[in-house]
Order: sequence, then structure tokens, then C-alpha cells
Amino acid sequence: MTDPLPPAADAIAANLARIKARIAEACARAGRDPAGVTLVAVSKTHPAEAVRAALAAGQAVFGENRVQEAAGKFPALRPDHPGLRLHIIGGLQTNKARDAVRVADVIESLDRPKLAAAIAEAIRREGRSPELLVQVNTGAEPQKSGIARDEARDFLRACREEHGLAVSGLMCIPPEGEDPVPHFRWLAEFAAKEGLGTLSMGMSGDFESAIACGTTQVRVGSAIFGARPYPAQAAGLASGQALGQG
Ligand SMILES: *Cc1c(COP(=O)(O)O)cnc(C)c1O
Repeated sequence: MTDPLPPAADAIAANLARIKARIAEACARAGRDPAGVTLVAVSKTHPAEAVRAALAAGQAVFGENRVQEAAGKFPALRPDHPGLRLHIIGGLQTNKARDAVRVADVIESLDRPKLAAAIAEAIRREGRSPELLVQVNTGAEPQKSGIARDEARDFLRACREEHGLAVSGLMCIPPEGEDPVPHFRWLAEFAAKEGLGTLSMGMSGDFESAIACGTTQVRVGSAIFGARPYPAQAAGLASGQALGQG
């Protein structure tokens, strides 16, 4: 497979402007303040030049689903962009917890007790505390990361009480090809019950529905950076990422 050409810097800037306008319109329809929705630009598989183009267009918040890829791209950009915020949004292997704590400002994929323990230990060692979101596998998909719906409550309690972790919100990726709205609603209601203020839901294809359901963060990749140079599956959106248990 030949790699598609990455979009030029001006195309990335134009895409960002378009997505922000759509976010503002979706907020207006929902009677929400657009300042309450953070756009996370998902740059996985795209080169550092694409991230630089987005930074030049004023985008400061980015998402990557692989720690190694993030560690290769982002630390070099930070000195010139002190406002840069990096979210790790992909399933996280326990042995990558320390690298994730070192590189990320937000980890959105906390989803099991062993990972909670590893992140807590990494925070102690690194003296650095990324914001933490718990990922819920709302569609009960075996290949996907995320804690099961009916285990989420106990897991949140364990994160707080056993591991001393301050979880600030929840993340989900609804099953492909299904109406995402029931998943978004469930996550929003569960977050409200648990007193969690941050919701990460909505991607290129469904961020407007997520805004209608109350999300505070949307994770948009292809609508900003174009098609990924390799398939989402290889990029860890599907199968591979669930394998790193332990
Ligand atoms: C890749 C990815 C996205 C972005 O997907 P697009 O459809 O390209 O917007 C969002 N969230 C997660 C967890 C991802 O892995």
C-alpha cells in the first residue's frame, strides 16, 4: 500500500477551522457554550510536520493512541509550545504506564486494576500527575479496551481508594456501525452519578451527537489530518490494543 500524501499545512488549518465551526454550531443547537467542549486533534500515524501545522493554526491539544509514537513526536515540540497538551487515548499496556505518565498530560484509557496500580507507581516515581479518565467499553466488545459497564463503579472506587488516583472523567468508543447516542447517554448519566465532570466522547463521524449528549471533549482525527497512512486497525483502534493486559 502506498502512503497517501499528507494534507498540506493550509488544508490542516482549513479543516481545523471547519471542525471548530461545526463544534460551535452543535453547541448552539444544544444551548451549550463552545468553551465547554475541548477539541482533541488526533494525530496518530501522522508525522510531526502535521502536528506543527496544527500548532501553527492555533491548535494546542492533541491525541495519540500509542505511547511510543507520542514519545517520538511530542517532547521535541514542547519547548516552543508551552500550552501543548497531549492525551493518550489508546489502550495502554501495563509496561508502558511509566512512559505514558512521563509523556502525557491526560491518560484517557485507564481501564483495569493492574494498570491503575502501574500508573499510581509511575506517578510516584516520576513526580508527574497526568489527568486520568476511565475508559468504559460501553458496547462490551471483546477486542476493545475499557472496563465493563457493570464493573465501572467498583473500578472507580478502587482507583480512588486503593490506588489513590484522582479520576476526573470517562471516555468511550461506541461500536462501529451502531447508533452511538445510547452509548453517549449512558456514559453521561454514569458520569453525573459519579460526580465526574469530564467526558471524552465523539470522533470525526459522530462528534456532533456527542456534543448534544453533553461531552466536554471530542477526539477528531481524520476530519483534520486526512485519511491515516495505515488503517485504523493497525493504528490500534480495534484489535491490537486490547492485548496488552497484565
Ligand atoms: C483514532 C482515534 C480517534 C479519531 O478517529 P477519527 O475517526 O479519525 O476522528 C478517536 N478516538 C480514539 C480512541 C482513536 O483511537
